[in-house]
Amino acid sequence: MSGGAVKCSCIWAFKLSLFVSSSNVFFLNPQYGIVLDAGSSRTTVYVYEWPAEKENNTGVVSQTYKCNVKGPGISSYESSPGALAKPLDDCLNKVKERIPVHLHKNTSVYLGATAGMRLLRLQNESAANEVLASIQNYFRSQPFEFRGAQIITGPEEGVYGWITANYLMGNFLEVTWVHPYRKETMGALDLGGASTQISFIPEDPEEHFNSTLQVKLYGYNYNVYTHSYQCYGRDEAEKRLLALLFQKSNTSANVDNPCYPQNYNTALTMKYFFGSLCTQSLRPANYYPNQLVNFHGTGDPGLCQEMVSLLFNFTACRDREDCSFNGIHQPRAKGNFVAFSGFYYTINALNLSGHFSLDNFNSSMWFFCSQSWSQLQFMLPKFEEIYARSYCFSANFIYYLLVHGYNFNAETWPQIHFQKEVGNSSIAWSLGYMLSLTNMIPAEGKLIQLPLKP
Ligand code: AMP
Repeated sequence: MSGGAVKCSCIWAFKLSLFVSSSNVFFLNPQYGIVLDAGSSRTTVYVYEWPAEKENNTGVVSQTYKCNVKGPGISSYESSPGALAKPLDDCLNKVKERIPVHLHKNTSVYLGATAGMRLLRLQNESAANEVLASIQNYFRSQPFEFRGAQIITGPEEGVYGWITANYLMGNFLEVTWVHPYRKETMGALDLGGASTQISFIPEDPEEHFNSTLQVKLYGYNYNVYTHSYQCYGRDEAEKRLLALLFQKSNTSANVDNPCYPQNYNTALTMKYFFGSLCTQSLRPANYYPNQLVNFHGTGDPGLCQEMVSLLFNFTACRDREDCSFNGIHQPRAKGNFVAFSGFYYTINALNLSGHFSLDNFNSSMWFFCSQSWSQLQFMLPKFEEIYARSYCFSANFIYYLLVHGYNFNAETWPQIHFQKEVGNSSIAWSLGYMLSLTNMIPAEGKLIQLPLKP
């Protein structure tokens, strides 16, 4: 499945109270909020804190605790939704220790599920509903105020990530002695497991009316271009690569993978890479979900690059400046960008940080992809097989996405900042989601969504 055009003709008006970013603030009267980011590969629980007495317009929201829920993402519990409770409980017990007991009942909990659940809903709607119902049921026994488990849309995910990044960087408002003024915002690039999002303010937002969302923050309107590419998250993209390699292979039992390190071998079930909606159309006639396929790493950077390029349809955008790939409209990427989540992990594995040249990136990628499996074990500071075997693929995927897809070039590449947090707060859509949904200013704290065109 390729990323179809999401026509977002709607205005979102976000009204938030004014927060001035700062760190190490001690709150006399703290208030807490909890967001569960139910991603495709895992669930992360975030605890946010802000001073209740300043919530009208001078507060600060920062992340005070983060817990990775053990096990896979919630969409993997389609056939055993009841099993979700135990790993969730382990994290929630730790969360309870971080929030004073007398505040538990006034602390809101939000759960937002992303592309993994969007895909499950497309594949099996009742299974997706059962997973959400099981979460709802779990929170009945919790002391917090549960505000619902929702599957958020791709554009929401993109815009909330953009809000988080700019909020944490203090880009929304500069407060001076004379009057507050509006600052330049940064674009946001988010690489999740099942989808990837790009969000930024284009040069001429009016020209891109159909693909921008109007966001109102602190009294200012921002026209944010956003697009979410389903099946272009890191994990789903890699499943599509494995499916392609399987298709091109002469035997169905042993398949060479030029993106896996030399001498790395693994046996994967057909279900692992053909079971997803993203690879369904590539399934062979003789698809046996439990049949094992041996993948053998050949560590061939040139061939890996060639195979990864096949995951994108660039010809659908040939000779069109305002187009990324698969025929998706995209205005020219403008200004600075922050690239987080999967982008950050990969850059970090290549031993790069902050911002660096495209040449630098390419040579690090080539070097990394040429390492054998045994060499890699010494190179990586934290060695986890599931991630280590895939960094070469991820780096190539990021290259094609950013350079041939989003059209960054040697000149604009250094405007991308690879970063996972600001202070101790993670750059993730979850904070933007809570800022938008929480009722901090009762009179105007709600998200308003108006359809612009029928
Ligand atoms: P998440 O930030 O959980 O949405 O993950 C985004 C992508 O990064 C997914 O493809 C994960 O499999 C991958 N990922 C998560 N944690 C790590 C890590 N520590 N190292 C490398 N990749 C990771």
